[in-house]
Amino acid sequence: MKTGIHPNYKKATVTCSCGNSFETGSVKESISVELCSECHPFYTGRQKFAAADGRVDRFNKKYGLKEELNN
Ligand SMILES: [Zn+2]
Repeated sequence: MKTGIHPNYKKATVTCSCGNSFETGSVKESISVELCSECHPFYTGRQKFAAADGRVDRFNKKYGLKEELNN
């Protein structure tokens, strides 16, 4: 992923309501979320409301989480 495409793009610390925190790229410096990879039903295998009403998709779009950010 190239740098400098977005003038305000920087690393952000995401803090989840479960207590987990991780870094990602964002225009914000800190982000609070209700679900993360540690407690999200998609990853834990627990089927809850999240996947059903599109929260997974909204989460990914809102915080710009993409595969290439991990490279
Ligand atoms: Zn979490």
